[in-house]
Amino acid sequence: MPVSGLPPYDDQNIFAKILRGEIPCRKVYEDAFALAFHDIAPQAPTHVLVIPKRPYCSFADFSASAPEAEIAGFFRAVGKVAKDLGLETQGYRLLANMGEHSGQEVPHFHVHLFAGRPLGRMIPNG
Ligand code: AMP
Repeated sequence: MPVSGLPPYDDQNIFAKILRGEIPCRKVYEDAFALAFHDIAPQAPTHVLVIPKRPYCSFADFSASAPEAEIAGFFRAVGKVAKDLGLETQGYRLLANMGEHSGQEVPHFHVHLFAGRPLGRMIPNG
């Protein structure tokens, strides 16, 4: 069910194509709920994207529409990816863009996982 005020899911977005195997990705992890792969333009030494396997256009859509088992499974997968990559000792940052002001480019919900160096302020000044 689309969330009120949000556009319908666009099944031609780049992550939908990755999920269908139409374009490649550098896969890190996959399970029933999530696919994780390296960002094509990394902004940190480790920059992984974790996406749900089913079509949700944003965090707003996912949090409102996904069954609870899927929400739990997805976020457990995010935690597992971070742990399996050995990121817990030095730490990491999770980020999810939602909508125009955030600069969300790909309209399929995803979590960015950044790590590998001190990451600075959460939101740049200016
Ligand atoms: P966002 O601005 O939160 O929507 O982030 C979209 C992210 O997807 C950006 O960091 C892009 O570098 C990344 N991206 C775009 N196309 C690909 C691709 N084919 N494979 C991996 N990452 C991609």
